[in-house]
Amino acid sequence: MLMEEARRAIASYGRQMSGQGLSRGTSGNLSCFDPELGYMAISPSGLDYFSTEPEDVVIMDLDGHIVEGSRKPSSEHQLHAGIYRLHPDAGAVVHTHSVYCTTLACLRQPLRAVHYAMANAGADEIPCAEYATYGTHALAENAARAMGSGKAVLLANHGLVVCGGSMAEAFAMAVDMEFTAEIQWRCMAIGTPVVLTGEEMADVRRQLLGYGQKQ
Ligand SMILES: [Zn+2]
Repeated sequence: MLMEEARRAIASYGRQMSGQGLSRGTSGNLSCFDPELGYMAISPSGLDYFSTEPEDVVIMDLDGHIVEGSRKPSSEHQLHAGIYRLHPDAGAVVHTHSVYCTTLACLRQPLRAVHYAMANAGADEIPCAEYATYGTHALAENAARAMGSGKAVLLANHGLVVCGGSMAEAFAMAVDMEFTAEIQWRCMAIGTPVVLTGEEMADVRRQLLGYGQKQ
């Protein structure tokens, strides 16, 4: 099988995505990209994440052709391909309908730097892309246009898309975005959130460079 490690990551993180409440039912989808092959591995359409095994993952090129796999690919494969075209260095894309990000997306409001946890997303504000029907090329175009050089974007009346160097990084970012969206929502419920300035967010990014265990 092609892209075995990616297939295993998608099956494993799909379970985490459902288990951690970032998606409900069969909503949301994940993919990994191999720049040398030019292929992405993407979760299958409409299959419960707890029943998705590595062999259910579909391998596609970025033009929408299935290279390997017996399942139908995620209906949002064009959305994922559009993000890899925009960010060829991205190794993974995670798309969720997580509740708080989706709430802001239904207000068509950006996700703001109300908490420093969103600093990894590469922008001081996560924009909300223009609305388009799910599963369409128009949605993929709108998402890529709004995302720009950042690593996250809200989809109007739909959900969240993030990309990262690896599946672990993209998944962690989806968790951070949902946390920040929940805090923004809670702040908006009882007052007006104070948003961190560009300078304060730059300081956070410098601090993050030294975060974690030394290898
Ligand atoms: Zn969706």
